[in-house]
Amino acid sequence: MSSNLIIYSKFELENDLKSRIESCFKKLLEKKHLYQNVKVIDDNFLKSIKAKCDLFSANIKYEEALKIIEEFKLMSWEALDPSSVKSQRLGYDDVGRFSFKLNSIKSTCGNCAESGPMNLLRTDDALKGVRRFIDKKVPEFKSVFTFTFHCQSCRNGLEVFQAQRDKDKITLTGRSPMEIVNIPNFIPNDFNNYFTGAIIAYNSGQVLPALFMLRVFIEQYCRSDIDENLDKADSVIQKYAEGLPVDFKSQYPSLYSIYGDLSSAIHSANESEKIFLNCKERIEVHFDGKRIYDKAKSLKSK
Ligand SMILES: [Zn+2]
Repeated sequence: MSSNLIIYSKFELENDLKSRIESCFKKLLEKKHLYQNVKVIDDNFLKSIKAKCDLFSANIKYEEALKIIEEFKLMSWEALDPSSVKSQRLGYDDVGRFSFKLNSIKSTCGNCAESGPMNLLRTDDALKGVRRFIDKKVPEFKSVFTFTFHCQSCRNGLEVFQAQRDKDKITLTGRSPMEIVNIPNFIPNDFNNYFTGAIIAYNSGQVLPALFMLRVFIEQYCRSDIDENLDKADSVIQKYAEGLPVDFKSQYPSLYSIYGDLSSAIHSANESEKIFLNCKERIEVHFDGKRIYDKAKSLKSK
C-alpha cells in the first residue's frame, strides 16, 4: 500500500526546480525574441507545487516549500559547461549554488538555415568573474549568461545566445548571428526587405517602427505596380487598388484599407501588437490571394 503513495519532499521540490529552470531557459532561447522574458516562478508553477504539498503523503508543507523557492530566487545559479571535466551534480551544489544544464535546443541555424537540434558547446556567466573587481557588490541573483550552441545539421553553424537573469526573471538580451526570419515566398521579392524588417522590429519589441516598415512595404510595392508617377502615397495605393480585378477585390483584403489602419496607428503613436499582427496577416492573405488568383487564371486560359 505504502509503495503506491507519491512522496513529495524537499528532494522532489529540488528536482522540480531543476526541471523548471531548464525548461524555462529552453523556452526563452527557442521561442522568445529579443528583450522578451520568461518568469521561472509563475502562478502555474506555484499552483502545481501547492497541489503536491497538499498531498496526504507529502513530507513538506507548502509554506516550507515557498521559503525554499524564495531562497532559490535569490541564490546564485550556475549554468554548467559541458566541456567542464568536473562532474557536478545538478540542483544545489556543495557551495549552495543552484546548477543547471542545457544540453540542446531547437533553433534555426544562421549558417545552413535548417531548423533542427543544436548542442551546447560552452556556457558562461559574464558577471561571475568580474564581481571581485568592482566595489559595488553585484548580487548573486544577477547573471548574464551566454550559451554557445553547435548546429547538428551542418556541424558548422554556431549560435550564441545571451540571457540576463534577475532573480527568477530571465530575458533574452542578445543573439549572434541575428535571428533568421522566414517569410512566405509569395511576398514580392523586391520589397521583402521591408516586410522582414517589420518582423525583426516587432520581434525586438519595437512595434511602432514595425508598423512603419509594413506601411513602407505597401507603398513601395504599389508604386512599382502602377504606371503613373504620383506624389501622395494615398493616391498611389488607391490607383493600385483600382487596377485589381473586381472579383479579387471582393474576396481578399485591401492594401488600401490596411495602409489606412497602419497610418492611423502611426499618427496616434499606437504601439498595438494586435494591429501589427492583424495587418501583417491581411497583407499575407492579399499576396497569397494574388498568387492563387493568377494561378487559377492561367489554368483557365490553357
Ligand atoms: Zn547549420
